[in-house]
Amino acid sequence: MQTSPKTIPDFDREHLWHPYTSMRDPLPVYEVVSAHGVRLRLADGRELIDGMASWWSAIHGYSHPAIVSAIQKQASDMAHVMFGGITHRPAVELAERLIELAPDGLDRVFLADSGSVSVEVAMKMAYQYWLSQGTPGRTRLLTVRGGYHGDTFGAMGVCDPEGGMHQFFKGIVQEHLFAPRPEPLFGVPWDETHIEAFARLIRQHTHELAAVILEPVVQGAGGMHFYSPAFLRRVRELCDETGVLLIADEIATGFGRTGQMFACDWAGVTPDILCVGKALTGGTMTLAATLANRRVSDGISGGRHGILNHGPTFMGNPLACAAANASLELLVDSPWEERVDLIEAQLRRELSPCAQLPTVHDVRILGAIGVIECTRPTSMAAMQQFFVDRGVWVRPFGRLVYVMPPYVITPKDLSQVTTAMAEAVAQEELFA
Ligand SMILES: *Cc1c(COP(=O)(O)O)cnc(C)c1O
Repeated sequence: MQTSPKTIPDFDREHLWHPYTSMRDPLPVYEVVSAHGVRLRLADGRELIDGMASWWSAIHGYSHPAIVSAIQKQASDMAHVMFGGITHRPAVELAERLIELAPDGLDRVFLADSGSVSVEVAMKMAYQYWLSQGTPGRTRLLTVRGGYHGDTFGAMGVCDPEGGMHQFFKGIVQEHLFAPRPEPLFGVPWDETHIEAFARLIRQHTHELAAVILEPVVQGAGGMHFYSPAFLRRVRELCDETGVLLIADEIATGFGRTGQMFACDWAGVTPDILCVGKALTGGTMTLAATLANRRVSDGISGGRHGILNHGPTFMGNPLACAAANASLELLVDSPWEERVDLIEAQLRRELSPCAQLPTVHDVRILGAIGVIECTRPTSMAAMQQFFVDRGVWVRPFGRLVYVMPPYVITPKDLSQVTTAMAEAVAQEELFA
């Protein structure tokens, strides 16, 4: 098929959905032709320094030779084979690596094809656990406000009911229980009043609860909120007290982003079920995983049904597993902690002064995540264009202008990103 360069954005506009967009009034899109290191190259030849890591995922930058060659080698051996009745080295090696990195005791691995699916699998594990225990009424989840867990129907039910899409899907999405947004903020001293509402809900509803699900320490797409690890520790204690399972969704936070390998490590907490995705393949292929401990796996398998009822066509895709193995090897062999710490210090230095601006409500930094929360919604298209004109790729979302760059970004490149951010939020005309 012949597609002249000029027709690509035009054809796109007419025929392709993008995330959360209208087909009648689509937002502008920029055509990217290649990406290397921390730079995206546009069709017109311009280069943009990437502040988004393609939504948390490209932690080593783009087209890293080690991941590219692992994918090429695996593609020539076996791009895919069904996982029913078959196993292969890439999947086994990946499970071994994940078990090694994850908090202790999570040694049963389900390979899923996207983050949302890994959350569906986690929820299904929790339901099936209680079914197998002979307590079928435990079908609800307890979560907190401000969460984001994915776009499939099961996952949507535990996303923040206001910020998420519940108003559009009332009667379709299951109604779960919501405690207030976790407090206090990261770094603020703990006091027991912060857990009272959560404690009341979990104790009152134990008989109908399958699990608690939350994003540990950093809530991502639900508002980029960083909360005290002490909250997470108390949640673990309350789950132990009541017997309710704990699901940690580390799809955004996993693999070093917050300054710990997993955000649970801030609290020294081990969940019963752990979801990972996003950075798992270094941003190259879609892959996620749901890890469980033996209480969960033995609970399911020792019961009446015995089997976990899930099995995607592309489960354990060898190509994606090979990419993940290469990415995880790069990560553990790299000085990722120092890199993340340096990014954190620089973001703090260069973004904190924005807090003085009248357009800015708050500036928050944790690990390699920098957030400017504005006082009102940005004009997404105008601000996006402003960033492209300054040679950086930052995609604002509502009132948030935020970055989570690849860990390999240099101080100079990061400065270009933070300078553009500071300039953008100072301009009234870039707000809706
Ligand atoms: C992105 C995300 C998901 C969903 O992952 P997809 O791969 O987009 O389906 C779930 N939970 C969290 C915390 C996420 O950040």
